[in-house]
Amino acid sequence: MATIPWVGLRPQRPERLGHPWVFAGEIGEVSRDASDGDIVRVSDSRGRLLGMALLNTQSKITLRYLSWFEQDIDADWWTNQLMTAIDRRRRLPEADRTDAIRLINGEADGLPGLIVDRYAGVLVVQMLALGLEPWREVIVETLAGLEYAESIWERSDVHVRELEGLEQRTGLMAGVEPPALVEVFERRARLLVDVREGQKTGMFVDQRRNRMAAAAYANDCRVLNCFSYSGGFAVHAALAGAREVINVDSSGAALELAARNMALNGVADRHRAMETNCFDLLREWSDSDDRLDLVILDPPAFTKSRATIPGALRGYKEINLRAMRLLRRNGILVTCSCSQHIDDQTFRGMLVDAAFDARREIRILEQHGQGPDHPQLPRAPETRYLTCVIAEIE
Ligand code: SAH
Repeated sequence: MATIPWVGLRPQRPERLGHPWVFAGEIGEVSRDASDGDIVRVSDSRGRLLGMALLNTQSKITLRYLSWFEQDIDADWWTNQLMTAIDRRRRLPEADRTDAIRLINGEADGLPGLIVDRYAGVLVVQMLALGLEPWREVIVETLAGLEYAESIWERSDVHVRELEGLEQRTGLMAGVEPPALVEVFERRARLLVDVREGQKTGMFVDQRRNRMAAAAYANDCRVLNCFSYSGGFAVHAALAGAREVINVDSSGAALELAARNMALNGVADRHRAMETNCFDLLREWSDSDDRLDLVILDPPAFTKSRATIPGALRGYKEINLRAMRLLRRNGILVTCSCSQHIDDQTFRGMLVDAAFDARREIRILEQHGQGPDHPQLPRAPETRYLTCVIAEIE
């Protein structure tokens, strides 16, 4: 094996072992021939080999492990790693009956910083680590070789790129220009995805099973879908027999897409859209007598750091309390958090507080997280972020 640069670590706390990241404070010595973006051999404070990793001394996440033993990380390795992760998804499209799935989920698939979402024939790629850049071509070539891939589109326009010292970047990586809106399906629902301008990579693929779970309660219901984005929950609810669905979002573009999605599924007649702040709407409506049967709350993450958890919890409590008040007796609340720093127990505690203040009883019927195409590493709590509780509010 050619000589490769190396990094020696300081003694680590035991709970850090097996974590896919090494933080700046844990780095001991870096060999002189090592540059940022390189693949390095990592050893512990006693010189024992820990694995191979991507190096970026500019980032707080200084090492990202690729392998737990010594091996050649070459083009074949990348292709193999990608194809293995993609193969692991093969059972999913059948189970979920969808062509919108996450093919590569970064660290949890042993491909740190790499996200690939499939929307029918369009693959949307996010590269979030400096060390991926030298392998860009191999990654794109491998993805382009998939039988369904017509376009590979980059959406590396996310803030965390800056923490890696990288510019934001979007555009065609391979194949043909993707259409303005890509049509995908989730069971009976057909959904349009804006891969160029849409949020995240165009759609919230991680909520697929929760959309389906929520729809199971929607028959004959009046549904309020707060933070609707392109109306994924609404389409599923309407197809499941909801009498009326009200989408609420502060983004006009999101609501326009939601309206198109409702029309595409032949349920436009049962749809209303309201472009407004959900906090204001929930406050106004919770004092009215116009009761709802099902309320969905799927807000953006209210906190991106540990320090702002208390403020975020006040926000969650506020919308949940209001939603509980405007539900009819034994109505259904579908309530989500995608704040990585708020764990399931904390979220449930917030629900107890909200129910107490709303003078309602809350009965949890189901609890879910992110879908199985967003696997989590128990060693890396950061890889879990989504909580979805379905509850009956008496
Ligand atoms: N439920 C959606 C995803 C929701 S993403 C799905 O399944 O696809 C969160 C949405 O909340 C975004 O569309 C954003 O525009 C909207 N949003 C953020 N803050 C808001 C606020 N205060 N009031 C209303 N909408 C808001």
